[in-house]
Amino acid sequence: MTKILAITNQKGGVGKTTTSVNLAASLAAADKCVLLVDLDPQGNATMGSGTNKQTVKTTVYHVLLGHAEIQQALVSGTQGKYDLIPANRDLAGAEVEMVDFPQREARLKTALQEIQHEYDYILIDCPPALNLLTLNGLCAAHAVMIPMQCEYYALEGLSDLVNTIKRVRGSFNPVLRIEGLLRTMFDPRNILAQQVSDQLQKHFGDKVYRTVIPRNVRLAEAPGFGLPVLYHDGQSKGAQAYLELAKEILNA
Ligand code: ADP
Ligand code: MG
Repeated sequence: MTKILAITNQKGGVGKTTTSVNLAASLAAADKCVLLVDLDPQGNATMGSGTNKQTVKTTVYHVLLGHAEIQQALVSGTQGKYDLIPANRDLAGAEVEMVDFPQREARLKTALQEIQHEYDYILIDCPPALNLLTLNGLCAAHAVMIPMQCEYYALEGLSDLVNTIKRVRGSFNPVLRIEGLLRTMFDPRNILAQQVSDQLQKHFGDKVYRTVIPRNVRLAEAPGFGLPVLYHDGQSKGAQAYLELAKEILNA
């Protein structure tokens, strides 16, 4: 069975892309077949996977608009040993261009049906908004992973996201559920981070992953080399944390 995970949080800079790229590489390192779909016009997951968003010809934009088959957009075997559907700024126009399409929220889901049987895991890196692109991610997914920084406003945004997921479940995708909340860029010496983390656990219980992703400079550097951190510095705390997360997910 293929598992499709949307990595979502409408806040920017919480670690969605870092988690997408590094979890993809960590699951692939555990011999799983993995596809990463970049669904953000910023194309950070594309660059972080070693594909040049400036020069790539066919992207998720063409797939969503029906201008290309999904196989044409597929970048097979990135250096992280997973496959990639890339994105770039073309995708920013997709929302407006899709407005008259029938079932415009299900374009990605339909496209993925062509190839999903080839994968154990498909990860979707969503943009920092609750827009039509994210809706496509949520409709295509079986479950949602929510990366979050443990800071003061984190919990506030979380209730909007949880409500959106409920609405999507009611209207479009009855199987959708929250797979887990991932604490990212965590600094255990920060008292506020500890407090927010405690609140999260009180509120969401075992929906909070046991694995915590620490703040680690290697994780921030790796995209500059177009590599997951595992192949930039495999001994780093960041690399070890994402391997641990993959293990937690595989054992769930
Ligand atoms: P999002 O996709 O949610 O906008 P990113 O994954 O792009 O967030 O992360 C935002 C910034 O923080 C990036 O510069 C990234 O390299 C950095 N970053 C993410 N996670 C970590 C971490 N655990 N430690 C250090 N820097 C991180
Ligand atoms: Mg991102």
